[in-house]
Amino acid sequence: MTETITTLSGAITAGLSCTCPRCGQGRLFAGFLKLQPRCERCGLDYGFADSGDGPAVFVMFLAGAIVVGAALVTEILFKPPYWVHAALWLPLILLVTLGPLRPMKGLMIALQYHHRAAESRFGQPPDQKYDHEHQEP
Ligand SMILES: [Zn+2]
Repeated sequence: MTETITTLSGAITAGLSCTCPRCGQGRLFAGFLKLQPRCERCGLDYGFADSGDGPAVFVMFLAGAIVVGAALVTEILFKPPYWVHAALWLPLILLVTLGPLRPMKGLMIALQYHHRAAESRFGQPPDQKYDHEHQEP
């Protein structure tokens, strides 16, 4: 039997390492951003996981701040020609957007699982398989 992650820090670690949000051992992804159907270790069905545009939004804010900040500082300090800006910032954009996208998606799915986040279903009783009391140490 595999161990179940109960702490927030454990969920964050599992998410950032792109592993199963319940056991922290099975792989989460089948492709770059495509999920496995279920955990290969504990059998958790990943059908609940819907991070939507969340990871892209956070990565966009992070990447925008880094790249625009670096470009502004470089322009103010060195006033380089435009081709230098293109040569510097285009590769940096790819690095700071594609690099954290996968761990960010894993993190959002892990947090979704940890906090039992799901769309509300109006007029139906809450899902009984989740208890909403967390055991934080
Ligand atoms: Zn698992």
